[in-house]
Amino acid sequence: MKTLIAIMYHRIVKDKNQLKLSAFKKVNNSYKLTKKEFNEQIDYLTKNFSIINFCEFKEIIQEKKIRLKKRPLLLTFDDGTKDHIKYVTPILKKKKISGIFFVPGRPVLEKKALHAHAIHEILINTKDKGAIVKKIDNFYLRNGLIDKLKIFKKNNFCSDQFNNPTSRYIKKMLQIHLPIYEREKIISYFFHKNVTNNETDFVENFYLNENDLEYMQLNKMVLLPHSINHYHLTTLSKKELEKDILDSINFIKIFNKDFDKWISCYPFGSFDRNVKKLCKKYNAFAGFTTKSGTVNLDRKYDIMELPRIHCDEIGKI
Ligand SMILES: [Zn+2]
Repeated sequence: MKTLIAIMYHRIVKDKNQLKLSAFKKVNNSYKLTKKEFNEQIDYLTKNFSIINFCEFKEIIQEKKIRLKKRPLLLTFDDGTKDHIKYVTPILKKKKISGIFFVPGRPVLEKKALHAHAIHEILINTKDKGAIVKKIDNFYLRNGLIDKLKIFKKNNFCSDQFNNPTSRYIKKMLQIHLPIYEREKIISYFFHKNVTNNETDFVENFYLNENDLEYMQLNKMVLLPHSINHYHLTTLSKKELEKDILDSINFIKIFNKDFDKWISCYPFGSFDRNVKKLCKKYNAFAGFTTKSGTVNLDRKYDIMELPRIHCDEIGKI
């Protein structure tokens, strides 16, 4: 069987204490790992697989041929957080292997946090979560949209595997349902009130900056777009989507001088036919989702909807 494996990483943290600080271990469908766990994983993976780079991945997926002794495996890292230069790059560099980093533009270009991370921090740092719910609901009440609000409440105010009803409601409303300008307003309000009033400082500590990206690219880490604002792409209009794709390509081109054909990586794994079509139009040859799985090259699959193995599921491969 010809199998192609891509591993999906998000955050790598310094130690277990940092894991405990987090209210939710699971972020964007992927567990955080400690630096030690990550190091051990890379040791295991380099022994048992052929870690392939971007060009090898492109060749394998396009030709559907594998000329390697061991199973090919690609390492991918989402969201451009600081740990990717602090803990990931040094380890990969030492092992002489490369990874693909999907970097959102917003933290670098605008020095603003991504909503997913800001909401996460707000939920950890806000005791009175009812105040957030009230602010969200007020938007609908102010605009005479009570029926709409009732539907959102019914569909979203319920717990799931990782969240209690209040947290789930806040996340869904602030990430998907509220109009973008209102999301920006409410998130910014609670972030500055309850997390920090110095967002620039937060961003500098939490995300990769221009120098980090230059250093990583120089050291053979491959930087690829991951949208500008990291919104759910399916919530954008066609015009907004096209602008986001073009802007994110132009942003990455500042650092990735060899940028040509690329792999799209949909924030939150959120995509539809339109998203895939536009990514292809602007030269994406493949697309990664956040769905869990490996690619069997002998079977039929959609190259714009490739699954990845979550980093806490290595045992499955
Ligand atoms: Zn992401």
